[in-house]
Amino acid sequence: MSVGDDVAATAGTRDLLAAAAAHAADWLDTLTTRPVAPARTSEEMLAALGGPLPDGPADPREVLDQLVADMDGGLIAMGSPRFFGWVVGGAVPASLAADWMTSAWDQNAGLSMPTPAVAAIEEVAGAWLLELLALPAHASFAIVTGCHMAHVTALAAARHRVLERAGWNVEHDGLIGAPPVRVLVGAERHVTVDRALRLVGLGDARAEQVDVDEAGAIRADALAAALDGHEGPAIVCAQAGNVNTGAIDPLDAIADIAHGAGAWVHVDGAFGLWAAASPRHRAEVAGAERADSWATDGHKVLNVTYDSGLAFVADRAAHRAAMSVTAGYLPPPHEDGGPRDPMDFTPEFSRRARGVPLYAALRSLGRTGVAELVDRLWAGADRFAAALGEEPEAEVLAHATNQVLVRFADDDARTDAVVEELQRDGTCFMTATTWRGRR
Ligand SMILES: *Cc1c(COP(=O)(O)O)cnc(C)c1O
Repeated sequence: MSVGDDVAATAGTRDLLAAAAAHAADWLDTLTTRPVAPARTSEEMLAALGGPLPDGPADPREVLDQLVADMDGGLIAMGSPRFFGWVVGGAVPASLAADWMTSAWDQNAGLSMPTPAVAAIEEVAGAWLLELLALPAHASFAIVTGCHMAHVTALAAARHRVLERAGWNVEHDGLIGAPPVRVLVGAERHVTVDRALRLVGLGDARAEQVDVDEAGAIRADALAAALDGHEGPAIVCAQAGNVNTGAIDPLDAIADIAHGAGAWVHVDGAFGLWAAASPRHRAEVAGAERADSWATDGHKVLNVTYDSGLAFVADRAAHRAAMSVTAGYLPPPHEDGGPRDPMDFTPEFSRRARGVPLYAALRSLGRTGVAELVDRLWAGADRFAAALGEEPEAEVLAHATNQVLVRFADDDARTDAVVEELQRDGTCFMTATTWRGRR
């Protein structure tokens, strides 16, 4: 048997894929009824999946059936309508189906020349997203793994521009000996902002923490005081949607203050930025469009299959300068106008055609479908906040966007016990956090 025989759609391959489709439908069917939490522990899963490296080949159908049987008990029903943990999305059907096609097509999506369809679909998805999120139409974008890598991408662009203005070429000369860059972050920023700052060499502990209000939103007066009289390279990281409280920073005021001091404004809008896609909630992120870069997710509010992160940069030249690559064996860089080479805008070189399931989600939902997703998600949080507010033991500490922060009997141990019992019971799944030193 030749390699060609292996990959051609022989009867065996068709049967294999049909079996995978049936297994997938079975899984989706159980989502509404199965307990949300996994039934088995990591140790049990290691025992089920482990053993010696197989000596030789196995029948693909047997591999598939065994895999599905072995994995089942150790999976969590993240796509269940009763999963409320962290900020995790499900998958709209068109996105899931398109994700399968992405694997079948198996395109290396780094360049446009060999796979024009993939480059074009990203171009279209990027433009649609800018419109949906009410961001500047001229902004560039990158489809990455998640909001975290979107921070890395956007902060690399920010680093390029603020240092270029100070006469320093950071891509050539690195950060050693560079003019200092001030980085200002809200005291309640997401942890991925810190890691992104580490990865782009700006350091997490060096970042100056700006005071926040009760809900964790940056205090505009504190930012103004911190930047008073400042000149030189500076980056301000704002947030649309705090992971605990849902709070959104005063983005309009932040743009005024930061731009007044010549600073770059980056917005972590992993889930909160999606308020812009809803006429009802748009005002919550007023001023977001005035930032210089934005990071958000497709795999949260939009319910695109994992992984789907999005970076947008108003200063396209800075974005490209931070990420672009050239090599003799690659086609020459694509000039602006036509579909670009995705690898000139992403930290990845070879990459999955992530734009495909993203495009399919947008195409299947449309503008009104996305707005409805946001409205229903925000309304679901309202219902939780209202119902929990009636419970004598529960105290709703914060509630905005899609987040509800609740504490039980004003006691850490009791709060953890409630969450553990909920998870064990399996009817639904919620997760605990520490906010201002309290569970
Ligand atoms: C989820 C989240 C992130 C990180 O996103 P990933 O997609 O997991 O990389 C960053 N910021 C906020 C506010 C988040 O909720």
